[in-house]
Amino acid sequence: MAITIDDLPRGGDGAKDLASVRALTVKLMAALKGVPVTGFVNAQGAQALGDAGLQEILGLWTKQGAELGNHTFSHPDLNRVPLAEFEADLLRGEPAIRKARGGTQSRYFRHPFLHAGKDAEIKQALDAFLVKHRYTMAPVTLDTSDWMFAYVYARTADKAGLLQAYLLYMDSICEFYEKRAVEVTGREIAQILLIHANQLNADAMPDLLRLFAKRGYRIVGLAEALRDPAYGLPDGYLGTNGISWIHRWASAKGLTERWEPGEPKWLLEEYGRMSGR
Ligand SMILES: [Zn+2]
Repeated sequence: MAITIDDLPRGGDGAKDLASVRALTVKLMAALKGVPVTGFVNAQGAQALGDAGLQEILGLWTKQGAELGNHTFSHPDLNRVPLAEFEADLLRGEPAIRKARGGTQSRYFRHPFLHAGKDAEIKQALDAFLVKHRYTMAPVTLDTSDWMFAYVYARTADKAGLLQAYLLYMDSICEFYEKRAVEVTGREIAQILLIHANQLNADAMPDLLRLFAKRGYRIVGLAEALRDPAYGLPDGYLGTNGISWIHRWASAKGLTERWEPGEPKWLLEEYGRMSGR
């Protein structure tokens, strides 16, 4: 399994001032010492940090050998903004990451919301743009709602209970996608996990790594995971949803859809109450 972490320097769970983001990142990276990981950056998410603050935070990642990829500048939704605007935003995201990488361009690109193009025209045009600009698209197979758990975690009084519920949920997600990979590709594959840079994952990472080890995973870098031939399968999905690439391969094969376990009802209710959404 490759671990990829999106929305660096910090996702939408809480404060983005330098002290908070630094504390979160130090804790996360301590738990990930010796573990290959790829982080996907939205430089705009770091406005409160300033350029120097963002470089300090990204430096905590690269110091430990983490790979940094481009997740656009401002996290635009490809379903809502014109392609040209999306592409300009993507390129605008690169300079801060290039600087953190010591002057080399990101190798990887991750679609915000996993929205990869609602129709064939947009999808093919963006794919061609990525090739032209020498980005490898980073797919996701283990797609989770960690961000929703993280939002509630940051606000609940019962942090221990929330953390336990999160671990059970993540175990059920792994279980589902392991089986679904076999149904769709005929075998177990090198999975690519998507989680976000937030306090929940900083606090849960030691437990998450134990959970993955218990399920038999060895953590590898994104480049090694992508060498699995499964990632050469066609993505047959055209639509507005941000879904796992396993679902996209299933769609290309004409298989009946089967979706991963949803968020627990109580979590949806808490999230709705806390976020007003
Ligand atoms: Zn994102």
